[in-house]
Amino acid sequence: KHIVIGGGSGFIGDMLTIALRERGDRVTWISRNAGPNRITWDDLSQTGLPDCDAVVNLAGQHILDVRRRWTDAYRAEVIDSRVHTTRALVAAINEARNPPEVFVSTAGKCFYGTTEMEVDQATVDLDETSVPIGMDFPAELVGLWEAASEGVDTDRIRHIQLRIGVVLGKIERKSDIGKLWRIGRSRGFLPIIRLPFCLGLGAKIGTGRQPFPWIHVDDMVGVILHVLDRPQTEGRYNAVSPGIVDNATFTEAFARALGRPVVWSVPEWIVRAIVGSERSSILLRGQRVRPRRTLESGYRFTFPTIDVAMSDLVRKVI
Ligand code: NDP
Repeated sequence: KHIVIGGGSGFIGDMLTIALRERGDRVTWISRNAGPNRITWDDLSQTGLPDCDAVVNLAGQHILDVRRRWTDAYRAEVIDSRVHTTRALVAAINEARNPPEVFVSTAGKCFYGTTEMEVDQATVDLDETSVPIGMDFPAELVGLWEAASEGVDTDRIRHIQLRIGVVLGKIERKSDIGKLWRIGRSRGFLPIIRLPFCLGLGAKIGTGRQPFPWIHVDDMVGVILHVLDRPQTEGRYNAVSPGIVDNATFTEAFARALGRPVVWSVPEWIVRAIVGSERSSILLRGQRVRPRRTLESGYRFTFPTIDVAMSDLVRKVI
C-alpha cells in the first residue's frame, strides 16, 4: 500500500513511517521542505495528491515549544499549520480522480476543553460522543482543526478522526548532560520535563489532581495502523490509554522510572508565567478522556497502564 503522511517527519509520523515500511508499505511525506520520498505542500496544491491508498495528517507547529515566546505570530502559526494543512489535504483528496480509501485526520484531546470548576467537580468521564466541558484556547484550536477535516467527501472516502492524548516516547535514563540539553527536536512530552527530574527537582504540576490523558507512542502508531487496516472503522476515536491517571500519579511513575525524587509542586502562577495563560490549561487542567470506541473497535493496548509504559519508555543505559 502507499500511504501519504502530512507532517510525516515529526515525532509520531517518524514512528508510523518506520512501522509502515517494516511491513512493506510505501510512504510519502508532505513537508515544508523538499527531499527524497516527500512532496511539499506547494507540490500538493499545484499537482494534486499522488495516487495512494491512505492519507494521514500529522502536521502541526508544536504548541508547547518552550524555546519560543507565546506571541500572536506563534499563535497564528499553531492554528494555521493545522487548519491550512488539513484544508489543503481535504481539497486534494476530494479532487483526486482515484481518491484514497481512507483519510485519517488527527487532533488533540484538548477538544474536550476545561472549566473553571474545581478539578474534582470537572472530571467527568468523556468519550468520543461527549461535547466539550468548557471552551479555552486549545479547545477552540481543536474545534477549528476538526472542522477543517470535515469537508472530506465521506461518500467516497472513509474518514477517521483521532483525538490524541499526550504521546510518551522513549528516553534514556542515563543523565549525560549533553543529552539532557538535547530537547531540540520534539520527541514527545518526556524530553521536555526530563531535565528538572534528572537534576533532582522533579515536580508535579499545580495541584497534581488534574487528569493526564496519555498514550505510549507504540500504541499511538498501533491505533493508526488499526484504523488504516479496518474498513469497518469510521468516525471519531480517542487515542488515549485506558489507564488514565492524574498528573501526580504520572509524575511519581516517571520519577520512579528515572530513579529520581518528586520534591515539589510547580505553583500554577509559575506555569502561567512560563507558557502564558492561554496555553496553561494544557498543563494545569485535564480531561478524563476514555478510548471507548477505540476499545469497542477491537484495539488492544500494548501499554494500558502508566507503570507498564514507564518501564518500557525509560530505558536504562549503563
Ligand atoms: P511534531 O511537533 O513532531 O510535528 C509534526 C510535523 O508538523 C513536523 O515534523 C513538521 O513537518 C510539521 N510542521 C511543524 N510546523 C509546521 C508548520 N508551521 N506548518 C506546516 N507544518 C508544520 O508533532 P507530533 O508528531 O508530536 O504530533 C503530530 C500531530 O499530532 C500534531 O498536529 C500534534 O498537534 C498532534 N498531537 C500530538 C500530541 C503529542 O503529544 N505529540 C498530542 C496531541 C496531538 P515538516 O518540518 O516536514 O514540515
